Amino acid sequence: MPEIFHVTADPAVKVLKADRLIDVVAGTVLQKPVIVIEGTRIAKIGTASSINAQPGVNVVDCGAATLMPGMMDCHIHTMMFNCLTFHNYRVAQWEITPELQQMYGLFHAQLCFDMGFTTLRDLGLNSSRGLLTAHLCGIRDSINAGIFEGPRMLIGGFTTITGSHLDLIQPRAMQRFGFQTADGPWELRKLARQNLLAGCDIVKTCVTGGGGTDKEEPDVRNMTQEELDAVVDEAHAFKKAAAVHCFTPAGQRMALQAGADTIEHMVFNDDEATDAIVAAGVPVTTTLLHRTDHAIETRRAQGTAQFVLNKMKAIQPYCYETFQKMYKAGVKIAMGTDMGFDPEMGSNARELALYVDLGMKPMEAVQVATINSARALKIDKDTGSLEAGKFADIIAIRADPLADIACLQDKRNIVMVMKEGKVFADRREGHHKNVIDARPGEWKKVDFL
Ligand SMILES: [Zn+2]
Repeated sequence: MPEIFHVTADPAVKVLKADRLIDVVAGTVLQKPVIVIEGTRIAKIGTASSINAQPGVNVVDCGAATLMPGMMDCHIHTMMFNCLTFHNYRVAQWEITPELQQMYGLFHAQLCFDMGFTTLRDLGLNSSRGLLTAHLCGIRDSINAGIFEGPRMLIGGFTTITGSHLDLIQPRAMQRFGFQTADGPWELRKLARQNLLAGCDIVKTCVTGGGGTDKEEPDVRNMTQEELDAVVDEAHAFKKAAAVHCFTPAGQRMALQAGADTIEHMVFNDDEATDAIVAAGVPVTTTLLHRTDHAIETRRAQGTAQFVLNKMKAIQPYCYETFQKMYKAGVKIAMGTDMGFDPEMGSNARELALYVDLGMKPMEAVQVATINSARALKIDKDTGSLEAGKFADIIAIRADPLADIACLQDKRNIVMVMKEGKVFADRREGHHKNVIDARPGEWKKVDFL
């Protein structure tokens, strides 16, 4: 007879029950799980035969649901307001204040949280008034303070050169504020330090061009190696991570040489660079969601300029191929959508269905969104899987994601969202607690304000 773990009534203790539990570390499913939560963390995981909740214990019964760790999006831009038209986005830089953008950022983070994303890594934003690192840190800190409900957030600060693709997203004729961008190792070190002073968790930089601009090609080099080395070194000096945007194999090699902690985006590849990424063990975020036909058609419907749509379509096959090659080669893959312009904030789990369409098993897709992402962010000691000792970041799904990964896209299926032992969304039978009462698409687009 296994020893029975008795749980006695205590206001700080909860017991969670459901039909199944996805063990993302073992890649297995536990039937009829019982989870004991003490305060913010998981104390014990077992089944009804090994854990006995005594009368008076607070039991959260999730019925026939599947429990899994809260999901993570490691590449998002919550403060990008929902303005899909490239030119309007630029014009809106003069209409929309950073303060309003910050409100959108919190709202977007809450939409993702309500859909089961308990951790977001926001990789920064700039504006007509300079970098918005402090605004993003304000969102993170207000959530941490308990003033607003929201996910755990890690914030990146843009540390990029003049004319980088993130600079070119701003209007060309716009007055640039001091240190919005920088050039040369020492200026870039200063910019990194300013972002760190503002409170960023990650230094975000770009070694190649990207999408979202009018003239610049996505395969140009941005920084020199010397500049990139300085940025990554500065992040590491302050014990922070460096996330490096790379579209090309040349950029990937530069990122590895500099000691980048994560490589952002899967666009172009070559075997040599992919093998080097595998050998270095550096995680790569995917950001496939905004390369899809769905994303292109959504933007077309909103009036996005044809040249942007053409660019999206042109790189699409390369992105899918790079994902498949990197997956087969054994690259550590982290979940990232690069959501920002997309009007469907909260539909991040679409990304996982793409992985499955491109050849991943559903269990692997769930692992990418949980434990693999936690490892990429170096927070796997505390979250990313359901294990004793970790934060109780747990979601309950009305269906089985391993049978139908698309079930994670429907809010009605995300019946409970718990972060650090506290229930924030509860849509179980007879319960009606949302983080936010808005479904994707119900709010006004900034274009139409
Ligand atoms: Zn991005």
